[in-house]
Amino acid sequence: MSMSRLSGVDDLNEMYESIILDHYRNPRNLKKLASPDLEKDVNNPFCGDELSIQLNIENDVVTDLSVSGNGCAISQSSGSLLAESVINLTKIQILELIVNVRKMMRGEDISEEIRDSLGDIEALEGVKKFPVRIKCALLGWTGLEDLIQD
Ligand code: ZN
Repeated sequence: MSMSRLSGVDDLNEMYESIILDHYRNPRNLKKLASPDLEKDVNNPFCGDELSIQLNIENDVVTDLSVSGNGCAISQSSGSLLAESVINLTKIQILELIVNVRKMMRGEDISEEIRDSLGDIEALEGVKKFPVRIKCALLGWTGLEDLIQD
């Protein structure tokens, strides 16, 4: 892992940095699904990030999801945080979550209640100080949004 891969992480506060690095080194839900109902590959050419998203969906609830890829620590850890956060949520709940993640990354005001609902995803907030990295952080979320929106 080269230092340049981690640029942008170094300046985040320590607690957030440890969450991001943990997800980067040990990504959750990496295993490809046997028979996905929906799948999509997304990439961020500005940074060279790639993510493959697969999911199973039943009665509008995401029952299983896989996120795998290559790229910088921010894009990959964000994909892992996503994978950990959306299983067993309804499509509507996921779309709401994505709206809130995007608000957080844009530095918009979000309520304490929303902040609590984000859990570890909040670790990505420090990335908003690095505008070129926001695309990295949102790559998976934008891909998932496209995937579940009819
Ligand atoms: Zn990136």
